[in-house]
Amino acid sequence: MVVKKLHEYAKKRNFKKTPEPKPRVKKDTAQPIFVIQEHHASHLHYDFRLESQGVLKSWAVPKGPSTDPHIKRLAALTEDHPMDYATFEGIIPSGYGAGTVIVWDTGTYENASEKDGKPISVAAAFEKGHIKFILHGTKLKGGYALIRFHNSDKNWLLIKTDDDYADARANPVATKSKSVLSTKTIKSLDKKFKRP
Ligand code: MN
Repeated sequence: MVVKKLHEYAKKRNFKKTPEPKPRVKKDTAQPIFVIQEHHASHLHYDFRLESQGVLKSWAVPKGPSTDPHIKRLAALTEDHPMDYATFEGIIPSGYGAGTVIVWDTGTYENASEKDGKPISVAAAFEKGHIKFILHGTKLKGGYALIRFHNSDKNWLLIKTDDDYADARANPVATKSKSVLSTKTIKSLDKKFKRP
């Protein structure tokens, strides 16, 4: 189970070199969590991760999440990450994902996915290609949806639900740069990291 679920995660990394967490699958928790990591690798992007079945389902969002319900952000599906990844920040020295990582936002979430008007699990919603959820983060709150393109496995859209927390003028990706776990910013870490 451990090897199978996080096989792709393990395959891409050399744990003798990277300080990233080892591939461990955890038990489901009553209050599932989400995490958004700002990751300055070869390109700056935001990794959006949702807990489901003991791992973090993960998408790379080049422009980061928006609070404007009219803006659709491309979210490219990436490999599942271990739950321990939710608190990881620092420097990935070389190899896959080399660069800097901070925890841009994290918190719990509520699954709001449904099919034919009935609630379904995140795993079922993932298969269906339409996940709805409510975030209880520090920076992001309220409803969001991840919707898969009809003609693609990898490409999804991350869209803010039009609710009380929707705000077309706010731009948290630009204005709130500090880690919610530390005072670090990507810029402060980048000063210590030599880009190849
Ligand atoms: Mn990444």
